[in-house]
This record gives sequence, structure tokens and C-alpha cells, in this order.
Amino acid sequence: MKVLKFGGTSVANAQHIKQVQNIVKNLDENNIVVVVSALGGITDLLLKTVDLASNQDESYKDSLREIEDRHIKTIKELIPIQLQSAILSKVKSELNTLETLAEGAFLIAEKTPQLTDKIVSFGELLSSFIISEFFISAGMNAAFKDSRELIKTDDTYGKAAVDFESTNTNCKAYFSSTKNKITVIPGFISSSAKGNPTTLGRGGSDYSAAVVASAIDAEELQIWTDVSGMYTANPRIVKQAKAIPQISYEEAMELSHFGAKVLYPPTIQPVLSKNIPILIKNTFAPEEAGTLIAKDENVLGKSVRGISNVEHITLLSLEGPGMIGIPGISKRFFEVLSQAGISVVLITQASSEHSICVGISDNDAVIAESLVNAAFEYEIATHKIKPVLVETGLAIIALVGDNMKSHQGLSGKMFSALGKNNVNIRAIAQGASERNISAVIKNDDVKKALNTLHEEFFEENIKQLNLFVMGVGNVGSRFIKQIQKQKKYLKTNLKLNLRVIGLSNSRTMIFEEGGIPLEHWEELLAKGEKADRTKFYENVLMYNYRNSIFVDNTASEIVANDYSDYLKRSISVVTCNKIACSSDYKKYRDLKDLSREYNSPFLFETNVGAGLPIIDTLKHLIASGDKINKIQAVLSGSLNFVFNNFNDKTTFHDIVKRAQEEGYTEPDPKIDLSGIDVMRKILILARESGYVLDIEDIKNKSFLPEESLAATNNEDFYASLTANEKSFQNLYKKAVSSESKLKYVAEFENGKASVGLELIPKGHDFYNLEGSDNIVLFYTERYPNQPLIIKGAGAGADVTASGIFADIIRIGNF
Ligand code: ADP
Ligand code: ASP
Ligand code: MG
Repeated sequence: MKVLKFGGTSVANAQHIKQVQNIVKNLDENNIVVVVSALGGITDLLLKTVDLASNQDESYKDSLREIEDRHIKTIKELIPIQLQSAILSKVKSELNTLETLAEGAFLIAEKTPQLTDKIVSFGELLSSFIISEFFISAGMNAAFKDSRELIKTDDTYGKAAVDFESTNTNCKAYFSSTKNKITVIPGFISSSAKGNPTTLGRGGSDYSAAVVASAIDAEELQIWTDVSGMYTANPRIVKQAKAIPQISYEEAMELSHFGAKVLYPPTIQPVLSKNIPILIKNTFAPEEAGTLIAKDENVLGKSVRGISNVEHITLLSLEGPGMIGIPGISKRFFEVLSQAGISVVLITQASSEHSICVGISDNDAVIAESLVNAAFEYEIATHKIKPVLVETGLAIIALVGDNMKSHQGLSGKMFSALGKNNVNIRAIAQGASERNISAVIKNDDVKKALNTLHEEFFEENIKQLNLFVMGVGNVGSRFIKQIQKQKKYLKTNLKLNLRVIGLSNSRTMIFEEGGIPLEHWEELLAKGEKADRTKFYENVLMYNYRNSIFVDNTASEIVANDYSDYLKRSISVVTCNKIACSSDYKKYRDLKDLSREYNSPFLFETNVGAGLPIIDTLKHLIASGDKINKIQAVLSGSLNFVFNNFNDKTTFHDIVKRAQEEGYTEPDPKIDLSGIDVMRKILILARESGYVLDIEDIKNKSFLPEESLAATNNEDFYASLTANEKSFQNLYKKAVSSESKLKYVAEFENGKASVGLELIPKGHDFYNLEGSDNIVLFYTERYPNQPLIIKGAGAGADVTASGIFADIIRIGNF
């Protein structure tokens, strides 16, 4: 014999019920018990009806009408017209009884658990009757049997306990004598010794099926639902979750107890003792293998089998100096909760016995608080214990697996993955069986935590990097192009999946949960909402993605001021904006410290030499124990351009103008010409070498005349260049006569930095520097005479974009 249970979604309407019929019809089996849930959503509607009616809200009649309509429609679509009337009249008569009961609740303005059970039982009664009649009308050898006559319970309404002795006898007697090949019975419902309808708890149809399967020694229990088995995590929250092919009873029990709703937790117990396998299958994809739950000998392999979550958890903490040594405090604490029927999902206790902490459902929080405080009134009044501390809005996530006990380091891996993604952990519990490690976290973090853990334990391969990009000018737009081009390569070769979730320029911004389709970013951004930095930040927090990276492609000081907010929330920052690292030393230091404290990388390779790996090299030198003694560098692409092109056939004014027009200078060319930009770069290199330095400490031997330095706008600035052409020509002449070239050099030695224009003689490392090339010479303890040299294109949007890209990949490998 086989027992097949079909859940609410599987029987939600006529079309779905036809799928069910197909599955049952195709089964090559002589004796089949089909257990069905109420049509999907009907149980909720019935409960709503009782609530409304007992609150004397007339709209309960609307719910009743909806219930009636759903059932009548299903009958009309399933049953041939000539057979409909008998079935319709039976169903209508049941619906009338239901209406009378609801009216009763309305009139006395009251609901009791007993009445609620009576009312809610109509869901399964009606569905099972209709389905059995449909099977019969389709020529199948089927019959209906009311499970209230089979499953007997105590009278704990709402979640009754099964009396296995009488239930087993009833089931054996009925199923051994029935002549029908298929028996359809309602799930969820049962009756007390006195014959009152009872129910087995929400989701209880699974349990009904298990109870019957055990009673009749079925060879298999099949649970047909709307997903293809028990998944490695809730598939609605974790897109990458996969059905688990095979799992032990104990693992399935842990997973369901900790929230895997696909199986009602008590379901395992009755079949476990008889070793009856459970097969979970998808009604809408019957060809898929599903999950087999069986004895653990059959199950090999992975240490972590699945991850589950229970939301809406409250932590109750009882603590106080008086707790130590007073015997029986925990006993009283648990007694209060159990007497009120409050179930405890998780327990932790500090070894000092100074505190004890339990997890319960949010729904029970208010009542639990007042009961516990009342029970310990005396101890609270005498300050031995503090009033119970109540924290709501929490959730439990649990790693489950039989083989976890033989693997070290799993909890370390779990907590470090959560920590890296800024998921704060409120409490931890590990089952004595070592089959389960659970953590209590904020409800809002569930999605992120589950995905993080799933990636850590099941995907291992592909790491998701979620980018929030501000600034799509020259550099930003090229950066996006590079992501597009490189996406596939990164996924297959580096196992990194880059997604741009948020994008903003100074006018508009857009967000897309699954990643912005980058082929159309320009049109989408143009149609985006108004740009707003605060809202942008709030959205980054709201998405709460693991591996979130804020990318700043602007040159804005206000944007740079936001970095600390991001870092504090464990969001990495990648920037080509030099302002943050070259402003006050304290600001720079704070950002570096935050980055370390919150484990959130803060990378700015492009601040010096665009895409050249200058800062990264410096970091590696220092990390491996080297010390920087001296730095010599040419770090300005703009000044290189100017002095490489300036001669006695041109004017200085025209060359600067051309440099600006061709995009080699900042919008305000004075920032480059005055040396400020170079000062910022050498400052950053000195700081990264471990020296405390501020911009005022750097000597700037400017070659610009006073008049140019004093100019406050571009027009005056250019006029001053024309007026001083002669002094610029003199510089050129000096260079020619000494067979040298003019280079703007930055230097750092003995803790002191300076920048200025210098005559570089033939043969010097700086002499042959073309175009916008940069060069840096590091003299270190390991490279005392022959410096370590980094040279290459050090300006331009493309190389800068690729530098940002490289920083992001560094975070991916972090
Ligand atoms: P039914 O009505 O068939 O009893 P349920 O809604 O009770 O179905 O259970 C199936 C649902 O359980 C799935 O749709 C899924 O959303 C949820 N679920 C939660 N955790 C898991 C998990 N680990 N594996 C599969 N489903 C899960
Ligand atoms: N119909 C009941 C519920 O929704 C029982 C079940 O579907 O398992 O809780
Ligand atoms: Mg269910």
C-alpha cells in the first residue's frame, strides 16, 4: 500500500486536481490512500471567517461567499454536467452547516478553539469529497472516507495529540476490508474520544498521511507539493537552492523543525519507527526525482545537508545576580512557558548560570513576558533577577547535517561568513547531536544570511559581487563597458558574478534587485528617479546584499564624506576619487581603521597612476616586511603632456589649452599646473608607506608665476599664462641648453615630501617618459640602490576604469 498526500496548492483548483488525478491514475498499485489538504487558501479563509464573525464583523459573509464560490466553481469544472447536481447539493448542504456555525460565532461574539476546529475542518472535508467524486466520475475505483472516523485524538483543539492505539486499530480495520483501489481521505482533521472534530495543527495534512501510513504499514509515503523536494534552503528565498536527492529522517526532522515548511515537523515520527520511506514530489513536475527521506545508512556525502530558517522569533532572557545558585530557576522558567502552551524553539545558557535565554514565536511574546514576570515577581522585587528582557523581530537560521559532527570548523566557517556580511548574531545554539548549529539573527537579515550560507556551503564556486556605482562620466561609463565585456570570463574563470544593483549620476538613479541590464543602462538611467545620495545609501542598506561594494567614480567631496557610513555597514568602498585619502590625516586614518574593524575593504588604487598597480605593490612590500625609504616619481599625466609638447614653436598658453581640450587636465587646469594634484598623490603614497603626513607638510616648488597662482578663474589663469610666456620659454631654453627634459617630479625621503619642476638629464629613468606615462621608483630596504620601478600609462579614462575593475576583483578574491 502507498499513501499519497497532496497539499493545498496541488488541489487549489480544477486544473491542478486534474494533475493530481493523472499522478494517481498512473500509479501501478492496488491499494492507494490519497490524503488531501483543503483547496489552497481555504484554511486561511475559514480562520478569517471565524475571526470576523466572532468580532461581529458582517464581512465574514464575504469570506463565506468566497469559500462557496471556489468550491462550486471547482465542481463545475471537474464533474460532467449530468453528475453535478447530487454533488452540488451535498456540498451546498455542508456549506449551509458552515454558515450556521459562523452565524453562531457572530451572535455570541465569541470563538472557542473547539468551534474554530469545527469550522476549519470544512476545508478538508469539502476538498476530499469533491476529489473522490471526481475520481469516481472519471471511472476510477475510488471512495471517500472521513478521517475523523479513523484518526482519534485528545481534545487539545487546534493541535490535538493522536491516540495511536485506537487510530491504528481503526485504520487497520478499515483498510484491510475496503474493496476500493483508491481511498480519498481529508488530511488535517480528526476527532476526539467524544467525537468532536479536532485538527492536527497548521500544515497537519502531512501528519495525517504519516499516521495512516504507519498504521497500515504502507510501503511508502509520498508527499506531493509545489516544489521538487526538500531543498538545500527555502527556494523562495535562495534562488540557487537545489532539491536534496536523499536525506535521513533525523536531518529532515531538524530541517522541518527549523522552518522547512515543505514537511510538517511531526510527520517523520510515525513513519520513522516503521522505517517507511518518505518521497517528496512536485505535483507540477512529476518527472523530477524529488527527495527521498530514509534511514541514514542510505545517506552518504555532504557534511551540511541543508539550511533552514524560522522567522518571527522572540528571545526571552532572564538574568540577574540572584540566579547563580538558586536551584530550580530554569525549571520554573520553562514551566511557566509550557503551562501556557508556549513552545520553546531554542535554548542557550551562559555557563555562569548568570543568564538563560530562550527563543519563542513572536506571537507568544506579550503573554510570555507577563507570565514570566509574574512568576518571578518576588525575585524581581528583591533585585535578584531583572525583569525578563524581550527582543522581538528575530529569526533563527540553522545548518543541518548528520555528518557535521565529523567535520571541524563548520561553525567557524558559518560565523565568519555571516560576520563578513555584517549579519549580527544574537544567540547561538548547537544541538547535542551535533546535527544542527543555529544562530539567532535579525529578521531583516534572513535573506542575506541564507544566501551567504548557501553560497558558502553549497555553491562554493560562484561568488556574487553586488555593485552600487556612483558617477557615470568618462571613467564610470567605461567601467560599465568593461564589466559587460568581462562578465562571462569572470564567471567561468574566476567564479565571480558581477552585478550592478544601483547606478547614479548627479541627476538620476536606478536600482534593480537582480542586477541592471547593462546593455541598456543609459536609457534606464535617463528614466530613473531623481538622484539623492541619502536615498542611494538607504537603498544599499535596504537591499542588504552580501558582498556589497560602493564604487565612487566622481570627484566630489560630498560623496567622499559618505565612505565611513558605508564601511561601518560592512560595505566595501572602491574609489578613484582622491579627496578622501588626501584630506586630513585623521580622516584617512579613520577610514582605514573602519575598513579593518568592519572587515570591509577600502581600495583606491586609481588615486595614484590610474590603473598602474602602485598602491597594491606598496602594500605587498610592507606586508612582507619591507620598509620604504624613498620614493621618486612622475605622477602627472597632464603635466607630462604639457612639457612633452611645449617648445619654442608653441606657446605655453596653447599647450595648456590643448591639454584641457583633450581631457588630460582637471576641469580647472590650475589644480594640475599648480602641482596640487601631484601633491595629493605623493601624500597618499607616503601615507600608504606608513608615514603620518598632511598636505601642508609637502613643499611645493611651483614653477608658475605669482600672477597665475593668484588667478581665481580659468579666464584670468589663461591670461596670466600669456602674459608670462617669456618665463615659460626661459624654462624651455634652460632645458635645451643642458640637454635635459622638464619633468614635474614628486619626491619623498626621510619623512619629507616635495614636488616641483626639474631638469632631467639624459640617461635618467625619467628622461624617456612619453605621453601620459607615469613612473614610480621605490627605494626600500630590500631595493636600496636599484629601485623597484613601476612605469606605464598613468592617466586616461580607460586605464582608470580598469584600475577600479582590478580593485573590485581584489575584493572578490578577498
Ligand atoms: P503544501 O501546501 O503542499 O503542504 P507547503 O506550502 O506547506 O505545501 O510547503 C511547500 C513550501 O515550503 C514550498 O513552496 C516552499 O516555499 C517552502 N519551503 C521552505 N523551506 C523549504 C525547503 N527547505 N525545501 C522546500 N520547500 C521549502
Ligand atoms: N489545510 C491545512 C493548513 O492549511 C492543513 C494542510 O494543508 O496541511 O494548515
Ligand atoms: Mg504543508
